[in-house]
Amino acid sequence: IYGPARRNSRGVNLNIRSHYQPLMKQMASFMDVTYRAKPLLAFDVADDAAQLKTVTSPFDRRKQVGSVQWTTKEQASKALDAAWAAFPRWEATPIAERAAILRRLGDLMEEHMAELMTLCSREGGKLLTDGVDEIREAVDFCRYYAMRAEETFGEATELPGPTGESNRLIMGGKGVFAAISPWNFPVAIFCGQVVAAAVSGNTVLAKPAEQTSIVAHRVIELLYEAGMPRDVVQLLPGDGPTVGSVLTSDPRVTGVVFTGGTDTAQIINRALAARENAPLPTLVAETGGMNTMIVDSTALPEQVVVDVIQSAFQSAGQRCSALRVLYLQDDVADRVIEILKGAMNELRIGDPRDLGTDVGPVIDEDARKGLNAHIEKLKGEKRLVAETPLTTEQTEHGTFVAPVAFTIDSIKALEHEQFGPILHIVRYKAGELDQVIDDINGRGYGLTFGVHSRNESFAAEIAQKIRAGNVYINRNIIGAVVGVQPFGGMGLSGTGPKAGGPHYLLRFATEKTLTNNT
Ligand code: NAP
Repeated sequence: IYGPARRNSRGVNLNIRSHYQPLMKQMASFMDVTYRAKPLLAFDVADDAAQLKTVTSPFDRRKQVGSVQWTTKEQASKALDAAWAAFPRWEATPIAERAAILRRLGDLMEEHMAELMTLCSREGGKLLTDGVDEIREAVDFCRYYAMRAEETFGEATELPGPTGESNRLIMGGKGVFAAISPWNFPVAIFCGQVVAAAVSGNTVLAKPAEQTSIVAHRVIELLYEAGMPRDVVQLLPGDGPTVGSVLTSDPRVTGVVFTGGTDTAQIINRALAARENAPLPTLVAETGGMNTMIVDSTALPEQVVVDVIQSAFQSAGQRCSALRVLYLQDDVADRVIEILKGAMNELRIGDPRDLGTDVGPVIDEDARKGLNAHIEKLKGEKRLVAETPLTTEQTEHGTFVAPVAFTIDSIKALEHEQFGPILHIVRYKAGELDQVIDDINGRGYGLTFGVHSRNESFAAEIAQKIRAGNVYINRNIIGAVVGVQPFGGMGLSGTGPKAGGPHYLLRFATEKTLTNNT
């Protein structure tokens, strides 16, 4: 059996049980809390029943998590006034103070790990294991950016003065940043964007994804508890086009940090470019991927399958880094596919709060419909290789999609990123490798890529030729670590910044050269 985990007779994953049991006890007290989230702005916001949206759990739509009051256009405009007014004061705040707030937020998120994880599961459908990774990553962002900010925004850099003048380089913020985030990392990406922009001296208007506004609200409450002034970071829950259009059309917004779909990034880019008499904006965009892995005939099939299962199906395939297209050399393809079928059969789909679950739900009904349409199309073309069975209960009350694998002829057959547990397999012959590389690079995305081979020079050559932001050799292609594997793509996958990398904060900064002849 090539199952992904060792289990006891009740199906509990023994690899993780001992680690998670203490947390699960704490999580129990947050399972039935009904939350009420609202805009967190520099001014008080009155309750408004007309703006109230109910939030339910993706794994069972009968279970309510709470409600969220959306931000109106008028409130968004007023929040912008406050952010604009607060910028000079915040930019002048010593970097040690700004960094200390991030470190306190990191500590607070660790203290509130059980609650934040529970919310990630209840609101975003995340497995507990994914939840721990998620909160840890957010904590890492806080500590890493605090450290980098102290290096970057501390003392001005003294430059040579060959003409007798003194020259200094002074780092500052840019102004007001809009931070627009997706639902798939509702704490890590949301928090990473906000703290990077704020610690660099900018004021921030944060628009979380609609589906995960409650956990974002909790993070901003903790940020205020850590000492962040309310006019420096404000939370604007709401729908993208409504809140987003206020933020991206206003000339006072000097930058947007966005993570989400490539199409949405293009809409935002056009809106920013259309503003009249506005400063040229900064767009930090981290977008979608059509991530591939090439496996040659020297690879170890068992290891390939473990890494493919994690890369394609962990988090129900809802990671921007997830594997979408697996290229298998013909000589090894049958063996890998046989083991893959066995492993997929072992996967357990279910309630993300249960330690026996490997694959949770997809985020909502729209996502399920889109993925199922793609699945039905490929099934109609008789391309199905393997599918993990779903129960009727899951399809009735939750938005589950069965992990599924299909054969296709080339990555060129895929029109869009399929953001869910769908793996496409392409068989290639040794002589076709140059064509495979051209096809992958020609598709235009460049986020993650993997190669499996025991031929080191082959792996190194392929890794060099593929245009992708994060390249992995002989391992899975997900789970980049802050400060260790800076993360971000190129081409259709983003403007190139590396979250969790040494240069990230520079995207949020201005540089002023001060020359003094006195
Ligand atoms: P999305 O639909 O593009 O939404 C992302 C954010 O943009 C949401 O907050 C959304 O608000 C907002 N938005 C939508 N329309 C807007 C507009 N006209 N103006 C301003 N904001 C607008 O993406 P998603 O479905 O949340 O996330 C999945 C996508 O994110 C995938 O493509 C995935 O690959 C990508 N992703 C990339 C990375 C990376 O690092 N490269 C990481 C994670 C995810 P609403 O919630 O109201 O729609």
